[in-house]
This record gives sequence, C-alpha cells and structure tokens, in this order.
Amino acid sequence: MSGPCGGVRFTVRRRSEAMRDAVDFLAERYGLDPAGRSALAAVPVRWRRGGRTSTFLAPRDGSPGRITVTLPRGSRGRWHVYRRVRAGLVTPRSGIEMDLHLLARLVLVHELTHAIQHGTCGGPRRRYSEVETTRNEIEFLLRARPEAHARLVPVKAPVHESIERSRLVFRPLVRLLDWLLDRGTTSARARRSPAGRGPRRALAG
Ligand SMILES: [Zn+2]
Repeated sequence: MSGPCGGVRFTVRRRSEAMRDAVDFLAERYGLDPAGRSALAAVPVRWRRGGRTSTFLAPRDGSPGRITVTLPRGSRGRWHVYRRVRAGLVTPRSGIEMDLHLLARLVLVHELTHAIQHGTCGGPRRRYSEVETTRNEIEFLLRARPEAHARLVPVKAPVHESIERSRLVFRPLVRLLDWLLDRGTTSARARRSPAGRGPRRALAG
C-alpha cells in the first residue's frame, strides 16, 4: 500500500479501514469461513490518485494478483456503476458525488468481488460478471449510505420494449411480404388464365 498520493490525503490508516469494511461486508454476504476471509483480506492493493480506472489483476504464474484502487485527487469523486438490467438499479447519468471514504469502499467491494469470482477465497471459480459486482456495490451503498442509495434509478429492461417495438415494425413488413408473395402467385396464375388478362386485376390480401 504505497505510492504517491496527490491532493487530499487518504492515509494508510484510512486505506486499511476501507479494506476491512469491504472485506467484512463480502465475508458476511458470501458466508466466508475465517480462511476465506483472510485470503480476501490478503489480496494486495495498490492505491493510486488521479484517473478513473480501478482494476483486478488475477493471480497467474506465481504472481499473487492485485487490485488497483484509483481515487480522484480531490476530496470527492463521482461514483458510477455498470448499467445492468439484472442489477435493477443504476447511477444517474452524471454519477453520484461522494467522499473518498465511501468511494474507496465501493471500489474495493467491486474489485474484491472479482477476486471471489476468480476463486481467491477457495471454492470453484465463479463466472466473471459485472452484474454481481454491481449488485454488491449497490447493497453496500444501501447499508452504508441509504440517502445516496435513494438517488439510484431503476434500469428499464429494454428487452421487452424492443420485442414489442420489433413486432410493431415487422407486422406491416410481414403483411407486405405476404401480399407480394400472394400477388406473385396470383399474377402468375392470372397470366396463365384468360380471365386475368383484363386491365384491372383484383389484388389478393
Ligand atoms: Zn468489474
């Protein structure tokens, strides 16, 4: 937990408190045993100031893996979550402004969830999913800062809408196609039959 820290200080003590809260939350949520909890708490974290990207680097080839937590340089930042229908809620377009104290915890909950998905706490690997990370962040926020949670907005399921929309778009097309096919057979038939040679042919459909 080292590295240059510009702007408002986010001290080593504040970093480890954030880590402890995030680990406690996930240990309870996933019912981790003491060994699993310790494994989660032992994931190395690199802290960075400035920029927007926080990441989880999975352990590989003997390297222990690592979380990078990126916090803004100022005392406050904007929190955004992935837009996932199955998470139910999403941050407003401009995000939710919050202090570093809360932001750090939410970032850790997100990236530590990836560590759990990777199998850091034992058990089988879980599916890599941003639905799970998002749900966990949202649940953490609900418990830690309900008034900020109240600013989340519901994600509309676009699936049903688009099915409905495509029905509306395709119904006339299907009718048109039917009509054209029918017209094709009708006119072919009409060309063969003397009755169809008249100037005004009745259209089917
Ligand atoms: Zn993620």
